[in-house]
Amino acid sequence: MNYAALPFYESKATPEEKQQERICLRKQIELILDQERIKVPMQHVRIRCGCGKLINWQYMFRCLYCGVWFCKTCAEEHYGMRVPESFVGVQRES
Ligand SMILES: [Zn+2]
Ligand SMILES: [Zn+2]
Repeated sequence: MNYAALPFYESKATPEEKQQERICLRKQIELILDQERIKVPMQHVRIRCGCGKLINWQYMFRCLYCGVWFCKTCAEEHYGMRVPESFVGVQRES
């Protein structure tokens, strides 16, 4: 197996941080499954971010690489960049 040919998705996260991400992801999935079990409608399913906030999944961002969901603030932190102001919602001036 030629591992060098695989896509290189390593983030700057330390092994400890990666371990934390895996634990966080497992908890998030468990919470989603719990809500499914008690028949929470899809549009009302909430996910707990690593920072403790419980947010509707539609307002969360899922990392392409580690699969963890983040609130906007934590997503910016996780990706190491800010979302340009012009991307944040649709501003209604009039
Ligand atoms: Zn990630
Ligand atoms: Zn957060």
